[in-house]
Amino acid sequence: MLRVIGCFTQEHNFLLTMAAAVVCMLGSGLSIRLFMRARRARRSLRRIHIGLTSMIAGATVWATHFIAMLAYDPVVEHGYEPVITGASLLVAIAGSAISFSIAAEARSNWASVRGGATLGLTIVAMHYLGMSAYLIPGRIIWNPQLVMASIILGVVFGGLAFHRVLQPLTPYCWLGGVLAMFLAVCLMHFTGMGAISIELDPTIVVPPQVISDTVLGFLVLSLVSLFLMLGLATFLIDVNMTEQTSSLLKDAALRDPLTGLPNRLSLEQVLADIRQGLQEGEDFPVAMLTIDLDLFKEINDLHGHAAGDCVLRAIAARFEEVLDSPFEFVARTGGDEFIALKRRYTRIEDVRAFAESLRARILEPVPFNDIMLNVGASVGFAIYPDDRQSLDELQHYSDLAMYRAKADPHEKICRFDAYMDQQSRERITLLGDLRQALSRDEFQLCYQLQNDVDTHAVVGFEVLLRWLHPERGFISPEKFVPIAESSGLIREIGLWVLRTACFEAASWPNPYRVAVNISPQQLIQPSFVESVSDILIESRLDPEQLELEVTEASIIDDQHNTLKVMHRLKTMGIRIAMDDFGTGYSSLSTLQAFPFDKIKIDRSFITDVHKDEQRAAIVRSTMLLGAALQIPVLAEGVEQADELEFLKRQRCDEVQGFFFGRPMSVADARQIASQPLVGKNCPVPISAASSIRH
Ligand code: C2E
Ligand code: MG
Ligand code: MG
Repeated sequence: MLRVIGCFTQEHNFLLTMAAAVVCMLGSGLSIRLFMRARRARRSLRRIHIGLTSMIAGATVWATHFIAMLAYDPVVEHGYEPVITGASLLVAIAGSAISFSIAAEARSNWASVRGGATLGLTIVAMHYLGMSAYLIPGRIIWNPQLVMASIILGVVFGGLAFHRVLQPLTPYCWLGGVLAMFLAVCLMHFTGMGAISIELDPTIVVPPQVISDTVLGFLVLSLVSLFLMLGLATFLIDVNMTEQTSSLLKDAALRDPLTGLPNRLSLEQVLADIRQGLQEGEDFPVAMLTIDLDLFKEINDLHGHAAGDCVLRAIAARFEEVLDSPFEFVARTGGDEFIALKRRYTRIEDVRAFAESLRARILEPVPFNDIMLNVGASVGFAIYPDDRQSLDELQHYSDLAMYRAKADPHEKICRFDAYMDQQSRERITLLGDLRQALSRDEFQLCYQLQNDVDTHAVVGFEVLLRWLHPERGFISPEKFVPIAESSGLIREIGLWVLRTACFEAASWPNPYRVAVNISPQQLIQPSFVESVSDILIESRLDPEQLELEVTEASIIDDQHNTLKVMHRLKTMGIRIAMDDFGTGYSSLSTLQAFPFDKIKIDRSFITDVHKDEQRAAIVRSTMLLGAALQIPVLAEGVEQADELEFLKRQRCDEVQGFFFGRPMSVADARQIASQPLVGKNCPVPISAASSIRH
């Protein structure tokens, strides 16, 4: 030990020794880092990485040895045999390649130690080969214990070089590998140098063709600079590429691939940042806007998904133009749903203006092939902290406001208010009660007359559902049917209505027609046609007495299937009426494609039709359409004699409305149905049937 320390302190130049240590440390660091990258590289690229890493590691071991040799002063003339000196470099590189290859494939700690020990042996082999190139006018006498110690130190520390690098316990374990490689090279070298003593012999002459210290210094310097720069450049390029790739991947994970807008994940991140800012004491308002496209589904259904995609892309691009501060943000969070955020605004009007500009850009037509596509938008927004004290609840409330905007044809941008919250809670309570209504026998049916326009004769009844709530009394179907539809309960309730109406109509002595409302959900049920058929068989009702009223929503949902269902129903003899005509999106094309037996013009067009020019024009054109397609037309909601007179002039076929009677009880309907069904020419007096509620 003392011999080694003495050799290190007395026989070596301090500055050059330090230079050797620095080169060794830098080279070891680079080698281990490059090796870690090589391990992560794809198999095809791994060999190239390992090759490069081995060159750097081999050059490090070699250069450290020879810089340290330059630091060693034997006080006699000396030189280096060129071939062996060169061969020692090759041994260092080749040995490193073997050891890194073993370590790169290592699956266990033991295997990685084997790789490291091979590196240690490489250091030893290079050292002693390098020493055999060292020429002096004398003989080198080796101390066998120190030689053995140098070999053990090289192999032991070399063995640790990859140990925790491959299975790290902390992110800094690789530093242990660097230190182990550094110690393996340095301890091995200086112990090995401590093992020598020189016995001068004037008969031994140092030949003139050997490499001198100056040439060796130049060689080592060039090689070290070259390899270290090469390694550093590779490392930096690799790091850069990895960072670029990971930032690209991260970007892709946060963006919606179709529109390029931020996605829900991105929204969550922005919200998390805002939340953190607020927790750290920042104080600013946040407005969240839920934007839902209107009629988007229709575009997909009518023009195909390419058209829908085109609309979404165009809208996204326009949104990007609207955003003009880092405090404005918009993400696509669903098929046709977007969520926008606005922070740090001063007045609530700023939020409204933001909502208006986003909506205005949506309403601009989108060119697609040869046509222009138009969509609408409903926007709801809620504000933190005014509307909600918690940021987490904000989306729920902006959603509620959006639903309100969707339901309101006039106010398409709605701010959340407490009433909406109350409504939403009420809806949840109502849904709970609705689930039990059937089993508690709380539903009733009432019947509304349908009359011939010319003769006023009763031609049939529309069956209308009523819910007698134990505490709230009668609840309008306009209120509970949408809840039953959205929860799926309508399928069960709808079948009850159909069954009850069919049994009732079958019990009448005269074959008055019954029209039953069918919701879209029922129509898409695979067993729907079978259920209708079963009910007809069980009730023994003549299928021609049954009319099913469907709205356009049923058809738009799944045109192909609906058409098939309608044909099957018609084959059974059932009639099908298109309800609420004029309120949908594509009434004309739907009428052409589907085999309707009747058009029911919505009552919103009938109110004051004799006074309102616009409504009159719509009704007139519907009549023309009915005539052209040979489909009879029924006008809903006739309340006044003037309206009836107008409809008569327009050759409307049938009417339904308070003018002839409000929805009546089953007992009243039975009474009317007990009278013989009269033809067009036999008018019946206007029914004074008592209404139970409309
Ligand atoms: P609808 O199928 O268009 O039914 C006609 C509605 O207009 C009925 O409202 C009826 O009472 C009302 N009405 C009829 N004549 C007049 C009039 O002269 N003036 C006014 N102001 N209203 C008139 P109701 O019974 O409240 O039903 C509303 C809607 O609820 C129905 O519209 C239908 O869409 C739905 N609905 C009712 N019963 C059922 C059902 O059994 N199943 C399904 N799926 N929906 C139903
Ligand atoms: Mg109806
Ligand atoms: Mg209707």
